[in-house]
Amino acid sequence: MERCQTGRKGGERDKVMYCEKCKRIFEEEKCPVCWHSQVREPEPGDLCFLTEQDYVSSGILEDVLKQDGIPYLRKDVMGAGMAIKVGPMLDRGRFYVMYEKLTDAQAVVDELFTGIREEAGQPADQE
Ligand SMILES: [Zn+2]
Repeated sequence: MERCQTGRKGGERDKVMYCEKCKRIFEEEKCPVCWHSQVREPEPGDLCFLTEQDYVSSGILEDVLKQDGIPYLRKDVMGAGMAIKVGPMLDRGRFYVMYEKLTDAQAVVDELFTGIREEAGQPADQE
């Protein structure tokens, strides 16, 4: 467990914990999301929450993760039924990746959404 999770905070990073319920990686003793205390250390293959993005950003992120060969799971927050009622543009995508890919995927997210803000452009290609 020597790996750096986000690269943002150096220093006191002795170990991280994993909540199976929320699929979050965190450094506290309890899950900061559900306050569940039955957490464990993450293992390779654990599905970890990566990020939540709006509809447009989710599509962009999917493309880049595919290009980079990072396997991911996308779950839309509202789901198809709800999205039909309110329109898919209002739905949000939650992304999960395997623990061993989390660092790579986090770097993709950081780069991607920093880049979009700087360039103010979007990829034109569509599938
Ligand atoms: Zn939790």
